[in-house]
Amino acid sequence: MKEESTDFIRQRISEDLATGKLKGEVVTRFPPEPNGYLHIGHAKSICLNFGVAEQFGGFTYLRFDDTNPEKESDEYVQAIIRDVAWLGFDWGDRLTHASDYFQKLYDFAEDLIRDGKAYICSLSGEEIRAGRGTLTEPGQDSPYRNRAVEENLDMFRRMRAGEFSDGAHVLRAKIDMASPNINLRDPVLYRIRHATHQRTGDTWCIYPMYDYTHCICDALEGITHSLCTLEFEDHRPLYDWVLDNINVNIHPPQIEFSRLGLEYTVMSKRLLQRLVEENRVDGWDDPRMPTIAGLRRRGVTPGAIRDFCRRVGVTKQDNVVEMSLLEFCIRQDLESASPRAMVVLDPLKVTLTNYAEDNETLEAPWHPQQDHLGRRSIPFGPNLFIEREDFAEVPPKKFKRLSPGEMVRLRYGYIIRCDEVIKDFDGRITELRCSYFRDSKSGADTSGLKPKGVIHWVAAEASVPVRVRLYERLFREPAPSGSTFLQDLNPESMRVVEARAEPAIMDSVETRFQFERTGYFCRDSELENVFNRTVTLRDSWKP
Ligand code: ATP
Ligand code: MG
Repeated sequence: MKEESTDFIRQRISEDLATGKLKGEVVTRFPPEPNGYLHIGHAKSICLNFGVAEQFGGFTYLRFDDTNPEKESDEYVQAIIRDVAWLGFDWGDRLTHASDYFQKLYDFAEDLIRDGKAYICSLSGEEIRAGRGTLTEPGQDSPYRNRAVEENLDMFRRMRAGEFSDGAHVLRAKIDMASPNINLRDPVLYRIRHATHQRTGDTWCIYPMYDYTHCICDALEGITHSLCTLEFEDHRPLYDWVLDNINVNIHPPQIEFSRLGLEYTVMSKRLLQRLVEENRVDGWDDPRMPTIAGLRRRGVTPGAIRDFCRRVGVTKQDNVVEMSLLEFCIRQDLESASPRAMVVLDPLKVTLTNYAEDNETLEAPWHPQQDHLGRRSIPFGPNLFIEREDFAEVPPKKFKRLSPGEMVRLRYGYIIRCDEVIKDFDGRITELRCSYFRDSKSGADTSGLKPKGVIHWVAAEASVPVRVRLYERLFREPAPSGSTFLQDLNPESMRVVEARAEPAIMDSVETRFQFERTGYFCRDSELENVFNRTVTLRDSWKP
């Protein structure tokens, strides 16, 4: 099923094609900065950029915006490559870096200087900020604004040659210190950073600013539609100024759309990084993180993320999406694809006092509707575990599970009745003694008995001990704020339980299962015999 979306960006592209404004193929790019792992907000941008190119028969660059050497690393580059590929998108041989164009960017800067459109400013960063003015007051011209072209050129070359220390000088565009748009008040184009770059090493000690770099990379790659988030709207005049004032004949339109926000999480790499660095989570791929790597480790499928992004859509309205929408998409995707299994999260011992057979083996489908998933064997015997919460000594009204004197059916097995409750010195229930009804076997029931309900179980000896991590939302506030987000962390975002699993899942090649009645779970990719809860079966979460 392929549904084509028709958001305002796709409409615009259709028009550009229909009116002949766009002659060749649609070319887009996804331009992450490798200063952290990608999160689900990035997924929206990835789905949009790759999605429109796919829809209109074009292609997409994966371009690393690597102009901040101190914050960037190859670890992040590799993680981003892995995540975009995992989401199911293909950039072919169009993997590029802003740093691939450092020499070209430098040459364009010399051109701007020669044209009298850029100058070396020797004010400190502080002084430059102070001189920029405010929304209501114009800025003030730098005393260096009218430096001679020859001097500018000479100084720029010496900046590049490493003659000056960090912060001594910058290259600024000469635009308009009185512009109502602060971004046009002689913005900085280059600054000195004696830092080793993860790709170019020590070749450069001056680095171009994002606003200068981005538009030129777009032009050099022949991007036809430069899609970015709304915070860049005020930067668009600068994007246009740079391309209007250098010698390139491609000038992509910049089109802005709203960022994705998601409830009960934070979506900024800076904040996510703090969670990692301060060990509030177990790394960037902690299953509680809104990162692609975290969602993957949690068991979320690429299809669910793409479906979520499609449902969220692309608009100019700021939107904070409910977590329940993401969870809905996850369940929807896992429902028909995941085999079922019985895993007891909080085991309570059950002894069948009248079971006189040898241990037997029951059989059940891996999925009640999906025959192609096949069948599995389930060992049965006199010693079982059931879920502690499936027994109540004093049952509340309408309790459809086990209580003294009452009967339930063991899923795919027999009907049992609780005859006796055994407790320890502290009054805690340690065992239930039950009788089973031999003629009540599931599928061949001739007993005529009417049990209260159906519960899941495992055979005690044959079951496998597994550790299950039950995840909740990472934050207890729907909108954790940047300043107080550490206090908003949910202290119960992970609970670990020692569970017992039916043995068939240990031999299965599947990684994702629905544990009957408790949720969707995924085998952890790193730790043996550990399962992570992807999502509960229903939206039952209460703040
Ligand atoms: P963050 O603020 O989370 O660090 P960023 O914008 O600095 O994100 P980049 O690596 O620069 O991260 O982002 C790459 C692309 O992804 C940009 O085009 C950006 O607009 C887009 N993007 C980032 N966050 C979101 C989001 N929440 N929703 C949609 N697109 C996003
Ligand atoms: Mg950024």
